[in-house]
Amino acid sequence: MTSTPTSTATELDRPRFFVDGEWVTPRGSETHRAIEAATGEPLGTAALGTAADVDDAVRAARRALDAGPWGRTTPAERAAVLRRVADALAARAADTSRLVSRENGMPIRLSEGSNGIVPPVLLRMYADLVERLPFEEVRRSPTGATIVRREPVGVVGAITPWNYPQALAMFKIAPALAAGCTVVLKPSPETALDSYVLGDAAVEAGLPPGVLNIVLAGREPGRSLVSHPLVDKIGFTGSTAAGRAIGAECGRLIRRCTLELGGKSAAIVLDDADLDLLRAGLSTAAFQNNSQTCTTQSRILAPRSRYTEVVDAVAQFCRELVVGDPLDPATTLGPMVSEDHRDRVLGYVDIARAAGARLVTGGGRPRGLDRGWFVEPTVFADVDNADRLAREEVFGPVIAVIPYDDDEDAVRIANDSEYGLAGSVWTADEDRGLALAGRVRTGTIGLNRYSIDLGAPFGGMKASGLGRELGPEALDAYLEYKSLYVGADRLG
Ligand code: NAD
Repeated sequence: MTSTPTSTATELDRPRFFVDGEWVTPRGSETHRAIEAATGEPLGTAALGTAADVDDAVRAARRALDAGPWGRTTPAERAAVLRRVADALAARAADTSRLVSRENGMPIRLSEGSNGIVPPVLLRMYADLVERLPFEEVRRSPTGATIVRREPVGVVGAITPWNYPQALAMFKIAPALAAGCTVVLKPSPETALDSYVLGDAAVEAGLPPGVLNIVLAGREPGRSLVSHPLVDKIGFTGSTAAGRAIGAECGRLIRRCTLELGGKSAAIVLDDADLDLLRAGLSTAAFQNNSQTCTTQSRILAPRSRYTEVVDAVAQFCRELVVGDPLDPATTLGPMVSEDHRDRVLGYVDIARAAGARLVTGGGRPRGLDRGWFVEPTVFADVDNADRLAREEVFGPVIAVIPYDDDEDAVRIANDSEYGLAGSVWTADEDRGLALAGRVRTGTIGLNRYSIDLGAPFGGMKASGLGRELGPEALDAYLEYKSLYVGADRLG
């Protein structure tokens, strides 16, 4: 929701942007009113940036790289600052986690991990990695002798969504800063208020001015960040639709970009699967963050020989979910991020019904939760993989159970998708499961579980994205290689 300034100020308001190490007054007067997902009540107000604010931030980032101290720091110096930022974020972790839960409905236990623990862990991980990375190597080959240098790619525009705001920002900021880049972060208006915690931590840690800049803004100023002439690289996480537009613009400009986009991933339940294990794993595989997760396995592929059993197991899991206040540690399913998004998710119930799918459980708003943007955990059976419910990303707890004939058919259905982000295979025979997982065209896949490992590359195939985040591999996305041909004589 956007509006002119409101008179109901709260202590969570964020009326300024973080640019060049300072809290600066916006150029325009537009604001965003944040609404608490569980109650529908106003939470706070944040200034919304314009292209002029984005321009200020990019220029500050450019100065910090070209004229400021950051461009001349050693990896060890950068690592030391990143560790101090990690400490400053860790000290704020409890407040940050609660704030994000109130903004987007994330259950607090998950929020404490993804918004509280993950960002400092990533900063420390990339601080360690960059200290070990050879920024200069001497190569000898049959055709010459060369000094190979790694250089920061330059000014990075980081554009993030609302579902894991702190973690996904740090997926970009930590490797970018470690590599020696400077960053302009444009967070999503839905999670307007928590983004500036990074600014508070940067000030406390003594990060030099301009190295990290934060401007909350909508799509249009986001576009101006993508095409800004002083930006060298875009790190984007969000929808495939926006990713296509950003990728097209980056293609036009020959600008480096990493795109982490949507998914419609499959959990393949084999005929020997332990369904207790499946039930235990569904919370992360299919319902994490109220299924507002890019890796949600919203297609559950079940063998015809055990179809009813699998449908019952998934429905039983849904009935046992504790739907309610995301700040209550007992809650396992919170509300959707916004009223619009809740309506969009519920729209898929109608779409699935119209296509002839069978509603097994859920399908509406939970009884007794009249405020906020709650949706019942919902399971549809007898879904055809050609149906819209099986092809489009719902981004909410509406799951399709799709029957298959044999292993070959399961792989075919799993791969019959525009996307290729995540997935899982459930089986008592791990060798069989690993062999089958290897045939699914997807960036990440789990065996009898699903979770993201911060130490391993993460990203998508097909329309789920370009490039990888996390792991040591993510550093490469923020580095350029330069080969200095010097000849064997000079190298001795
Ligand atoms: P979104 O694409 O609507 O917005 C994401 C961000 O991009 C926001 O900050 C938005 O303001 C900005 N934006 C949108 N269009 C833009 C444009 N043309 N130019 C510049 N900036 C633009 O996505 P969302 O609704 O915030 O997030 C949900 C989506 O994100 C889902 O599709 C989900 O799958 C995806 N996602 C992917 C991953 C991943 O790692 N693959 C992780 C989380 C979320």
